[in-house]
Amino acid sequence: MTTCVFCKIVAKQIAASVVHEDAHSVVFMDLGQVNPGHVLVAGTSHAENFYALDEAQAAAIFATAARVARAIRSAFAPQGLSVYQANGAAAGQTVFHFHIHLVPRHDADGMSLVWPVKNPPREKLEDYAARIRGALG
Ligand SMILES: [Zn+2]
Repeated sequence: MTTCVFCKIVAKQIAASVVHEDAHSVVFMDLGQVNPGHVLVAGTSHAENFYALDEAQAAAIFATAARVARAIRSAFAPQGLSVYQANGAAAGQTVFHFHIHLVPRHDADGMSLVWPVKNPPREKLEDYAARIRGALG
């Protein structure tokens, strides 16, 4: 039995507001509200960090992240979108499963989230996930 929370989301053992899923990635919006409103793009198989991805996994996950970023722009029209990834205890992480953060912003100098509400509560996330799914077509 896995203890990785990302693997549990992939296996649907933990509910999440899923934006998109395919063979290589699952994209979702809630993970214990540690990062409220972030859209997380995670691999479907457990790769501990960036270095552990093979080239096919990396290509598929990054292509999905780009598609979802465009869908966020289409659905919510933020002024910008930060994309970041961090690994390991040195980055303050407690779960080691490769994932990318997509964070809509409202200005070039800020990291503020741009959704209809700032730091959306859990019950709003499914609505936002649905809007992104709609924009993905
Ligand atoms: Zn995992």
